[in-house]
Amino acid sequence: MSGVRIYNKKLLELGLTLPGFVDRSKVIASLPSLGLLTLAAHTPDNWEIEYVELDEYSESDIENIIKNKPDIVAFSSLTARINETYTLSNRLRTHGITTVIGGLHVSALPLEAMQYADCIIQGEGEITWEVLLNDYENNNLQNLYSSLSNSKYTFHFNACKIPKYELLDINKYNRLTIQTTRGCPLNCNFCAASRTISSYKKKPIEQIEKELDKIFEVWDRPFIELADDNTFVDKKWSKELLKLFAKYKMRWFTETDISVAYDDELLELLAESNCAQVLIGFETSNIEGLNGIDRNNWKYKQFNNYLTAIDKIQSYGISVNGCFILGFDTDTKETFKNTEKFIKESNLSEVQITLLTPFPGTELYRQLKNEGRLLSDNYWDKCTLFDVNFIPKNFTPKELEDNFQELMLNLYAVDEVKRRKSKFRTILRNKIKTK
Ligand code: SF4
Repeated sequence: MSGVRIYNKKLLELGLTLPGFVDRSKVIASLPSLGLLTLAAHTPDNWEIEYVELDEYSESDIENIIKNKPDIVAFSSLTARINETYTLSNRLRTHGITTVIGGLHVSALPLEAMQYADCIIQGEGEITWEVLLNDYENNNLQNLYSSLSNSKYTFHFNACKIPKYELLDINKYNRLTIQTTRGCPLNCNFCAASRTISSYKKKPIEQIEKELDKIFEVWDRPFIELADDNTFVDKKWSKELLKLFAKYKMRWFTETDISVAYDDELLELLAESNCAQVLIGFETSNIEGLNGIDRNNWKYKQFNNYLTAIDKIQSYGISVNGCFILGFDTDTKETFKNTEKFIKESNLSEVQITLLTPFPGTELYRQLKNEGRLLSDNYWDKCTLFDVNFIPKNFTPKELEDNFQELMLNLYAVDEVKRRKSKFRTILRNKIKTK
């Protein structure tokens, strides 16, 4: 249950008409759950497995699950869908089905989640899942399995198994995911992904090769989206990864920080490996908003390089999708105007703007909770990145939403999206000419 859902009515209406906005949401919604496919690979052979997506579920989908009488249903869910997951989990339990929930949200709030499921997986699932199934078979199921509080459940990537892509109806997807790294050492204060599941680690290149081979068995021309938080932290390892990718006929996408722009050899390899786009969190057009955002103030120190970094990466034919967050305590009305100006003056080929969101487990969540600024205790449904969930410093929540909607309108207007795409096409043409 991981599709994107937006509650803000006005944005929903806008989203239906603004092309750049819809494109990315559709892609996210159409990605399969790599977490569940990975658990499937770690399931002993005496279990039968079915993979079901309930993004737009109907009553008959649920009745089918109940009718099939599975021993266990394991959910993977995002914060924005967690209340629905809890409700469905409770319903399945009334039919005698054992439920398990894992993922970022329940890893941050296991005590909350334990009220709605027989069992919670906190942190990494590979080892805990195998232990859990064994305990189930021996009538000894625990209510919490945690790799965060029990180091014997910490997973090492050299023990990886290939996700069971064969469980998917491949025709339903326009992209498949693989994970090459887990976590991120930068530790931004609003980021749940960087450490909630695991500290930063990289997969052995030989393992990634096996996973790609498997994908090519089920799909001969795949588009791959890396399920990484920040792929190119280790440049030496990254270059080996890119040399591997270059051997496959595939286009691919990942998320990174701007340090890729400082390494020409890496950029060359990125281009040779047919990387279509990198998504980079620039976070804000207001340098003050970056002050203190990550552990070493690294992003703050990069601010003056933003525009040249975008140009450098794109000069290699790789599109940059720039992400900006609105709602920092340092933001004022001016920040909205400056963000629009910054984006329009940059050569970014794609843009993603979101509202600052205090996801549980983050430093930002703890800070706003301590300051009494969260708008409710359970605002999970509205953790969509497009709804305001806290009292901003220089706006009322309504003012922040209104300014955000106006910025969306300006940045995702059809002409503006076309202008960005056409600028990038010009960059690509110039690149071909200079070859
Ligand atoms: S760089 Fe990105 S992935 Fe890493 S901590 Fe910051 S927001 Fe999270």
